[in-house]
Amino acid sequence: MIRAVYPGSFDPITNGHIYISERAAALFDELIVAVLVNPEKRSTFSEEERQIMAREALVHLPKVKYFNGLLVDFMRQQQSRIIIRGLRALSDFEYEFQLAQMNRQLAPEIETFFIVTDAKYSYLSSRAIKDAFQFGGAVRDMVPPGVYRRLRERIPPRNL
Ligand code: ADP
Repeated sequence: MIRAVYPGSFDPITNGHIYISERAAALFDELIVAVLVNPEKRSTFSEEERQIMAREALVHLPKVKYFNGLLVDFMRQQQSRIIIRGLRALSDFEYEFQLAQMNRQLAPEIETFFIVTDAKYSYLSSRAIKDAFQFGGAVRDMVPPGVYRRLRERIPPRNL
């Protein structure tokens, strides 16, 4: 039984994250999407909201959990040795490479797997969606319906 973990902030989950989750779920016996609780990083949505949105968007798929603290500790707790991360462009690589190397130092038994996104999602990030939405950009097709609804509740459109 091979269990993989896809960790991230998911603030909020986007169609790009869903794509990576679906690809990973097809490869491994079990996938846990893990919403990171990071007290250092100010998130737009609370940990609970991020989890609810991810659960709604991924009902057809895997387990959604959250974790607090160090990823490698969570991995050991879940008895998983595979971290899934998504790559959009070369610009993701440097950060992801550093993270993977750090996790390798902390837990040599854990492997990081990268899944390359589909070209149609390569420009999508939670940040870009929130920024575009704020200025009235049409982001409806970039996120699941539950996320779009919550964006409308959370981020008041600016009067331009
Ligand atoms: P973090 O704050 O941990 O980087 P994110 O929620 O932004 O978390 O992203 C989680 C993972 O999903 C990262 O590996 C990121 O590169 C990847 N990712 C984000 N957006 C996309 C996308 N549009 N296509 C593929 N992978 C993505």
